[in-house]
Amino acid sequence: MAELRREPITRMWVVVTTDDPKGPSDYLAFKPPYQRQETGGLCPFCPGNEGMTPEETFSLKSEGGGWSVRVIPNKFPFFRIEGGFDRRPEGMYDVMEAIGAHEIVVETPDHGQSLGFMETNQIEKILLAYRERLTDLEKDQRFQQFLILKNYPGIFNRHPHSHILAMPVVPRRIDEEIYGTLDYYQRKERCIFCDIIKEEILMKKRVILETVHFLVFSPFASRYPFESWIVPKKHSPDFHSINEEEREDLSVAIQSLFVRFYKLLSNPPYSFAFHTSPIQSRFHRSEYHWHIETRLRIGLREGFEWGTGFFVNPTPPEDAAAYLREVG
Ligand SMILES: [Zn+2]
Ligand SMILES: [Zn+2]
Ligand SMILES: [Zn+2]
Repeated sequence: MAELRREPITRMWVVVTTDDPKGPSDYLAFKPPYQRQETGGLCPFCPGNEGMTPEETFSLKSEGGGWSVRVIPNKFPFFRIEGGFDRRPEGMYDVMEAIGAHEIVVETPDHGQSLGFMETNQIEKILLAYRERLTDLEKDQRFQQFLILKNYPGIFNRHPHSHILAMPVVPRRIDEEIYGTLDYYQRKERCIFCDIIKEEILMKKRVILETVHFLVFSPFASRYPFESWIVPKKHSPDFHSINEEEREDLSVAIQSLFVRFYKLLSNPPYSFAFHTSPIQSRFHRSEYHWHIETRLRIGLREGFEWGTGFFVNPTPPEDAAAYLREVG
C-alpha cells in the first residue's frame, strides 16, 4: 500500500510506499540508472512476454498483427485504483490513502528504441495512447490531477516506457503554477504562458525550435542546465483536448528536441513531465495553459537545492538554447 502524508509545515504531500519497503542494502547497491548494466533477464515489456504484465487497459495494433503501443497497470503503483477516499488524521498529521491510477505506456515493441530516433508516427501513437487513457480516467470523480512522466533510461527497465498517474490531490508544483497563472490573470486579464510565448518568439534568443503549433524554448529562469519547455502556441488548459493535427506537430517537436539532446550531450539521461489543468469541474482551471517540461539529469548540486530551495544552473538558458538550435 502507499500513503499520502502531508508535511505539516510546508503542507507538501509525500507518497510513502510500504508495499516493498527498501532497507539499507537497497541503497548500498544503488547506482543511478544510467550507470547500471542491464541485468539481461526476460523483459516484461517485450513482445511475446505480455503474460508477465497485468492485462492492458489500451493498445494500438500494428499492421503486422502485434501491438505498436500498449498501456498496462503498473505492478508496483504509487497510486491504487481500489479503496475509498479516506483522509484521516494521525495525531497532528494528515494521511490519505493513495487512491488513483498508475499505468505504464510501453512506447514501442522495440526494446532498444528511443524518442530521438523513433519515427514521428510512432510518437503520435504514444500521444494518442496518453490522450485516450486520460479521457477514460477523467470519468472517475475521485481523481483531481493527471501527470504523464518519463525517466530515460527507465529506472527498473530500459524498454522505452512512460507513466500515467491519476492522483487524488493536486501536486505542489502544479498548484504553484496555477496560483501564479491566476494571480497574473487577475492583474492583466491575460494568460502568462501566452504572454511568455509571444515574448520568447519576439526575443528569439531562448528559442530552440518552433513548429506550426508549438514553441520549444529554454525558460528564462531555467532551474536545470538545458531545461526545455514545449508549449502549445494556442491557449489550452488540457493536454487531452489535443487534436490530430496538433498531435502530429507535437511528435515532430518531441523527436527533434530529444535527438538534439542526444547529439549535443551523448545520450544524456532525462525526465519529462506533462503539466495539465486539474480535472473535474470543481478543480479545473481554464486560465491554465498545459505544457511539457523536460530536464536532463546531469550536473546537479542537489545538496544546495535541498537545503535552500534555490536552484543553481551553471548553463545560462540563452547559451543552452543556442547549443540546441545549432546542433539540430
Ligand atoms: Zn523489452
Ligand atoms: Zn495561455
Ligand atoms: Zn509546468
